[in-house]
Amino acid sequence: MPAILPGTRQIEVVTDRLPTGNFRFAIFDFDGTLSLIREGWREIMIPTMVDTLSAIGTSETVEDLTTVVSKFVDALTGQQTIYQMIRLCEEITVRGGQPEDPLVYKERYHRALLDHINARIRALRTGLAKPEDFIVPESRALLQALVDRGLTLYLASGTDHDYVVQEAELLGVTSFFGDRIFGAVDNYEDFSKEKLIQQILQDPAITGDQLLGFGDGYVEIENVSKVGGTAVGVASNEATGVGFDAWKRTRLIDAGADYMIPEYREQDLLLAHLFPE
Ligand SMILES: [Mg+2]
Repeated sequence: MPAILPGTRQIEVVTDRLPTGNFRFAIFDFDGTLSLIREGWREIMIPTMVDTLSAIGTSETVEDLTTVVSKFVDALTGQQTIYQMIRLCEEITVRGGQPEDPLVYKERYHRALLDHINARIRALRTGLAKPEDFIVPESRALLQALVDRGLTLYLASGTDHDYVVQEAELLGVTSFFGDRIFGAVDNYEDFSKEKLIQQILQDPAITGDQLLGFGDGYVEIENVSKVGGTAVGVASNEATGVGFDAWKRTRLIDAGADYMIPEYREQDLLLAHLFPE
């Protein structure tokens, strides 16, 4: 069991390394880490894929297929969505089906997701909803605190770039990142969170331990951890905004998270620990 950071209720210290406070860069995932606009995407992606596989005429039950699909969807969360669709195509082929282009499945999923989230986007656009209604609690205060400490912030998401830009704008976080907002691109091999980290580290004056990462997905936690950065796992409960999502928490610890938090309500104590005087 990880230790609780003294004075906090819910910040867990998984690492036994002591922080140096030497951070110069922070990289944030978007969905689930800052934004709650796409809450529920997994509950749309998985059944949509299960339907596609069922339609091939396999002997597996819906339950069997849900297990198979959940496993690869979760393992690939944090990478661009197209990779989950490429994997779906492989599963179709294995079962004797003829897959369409992965983009076709991505479009189909995205249409279903938009049906689910369009009301939220409309509410934010018209002012019926406030950014606070769809943001992980205290996100903006944290971004501001990191900027105040002189860090350069990057936003990196597996969601299509144009949507990330739009949704970041709706949540009022664009100014913290400037032009350092990255999302999925058509030439998907040109972008990954790992590539972005490599790009940041290309400057010989920058070392991995100067990188701080925040994410609710396996991929970004693993990427940050691999280069010697400090990874903060955000096991946000996207539906309620309160407390840990137990399932995310376990996965992020497995991925190599150094700290676990449910949201940013206790950020003052986390920052005091990460940036010792
Ligand atoms: Mg995420």
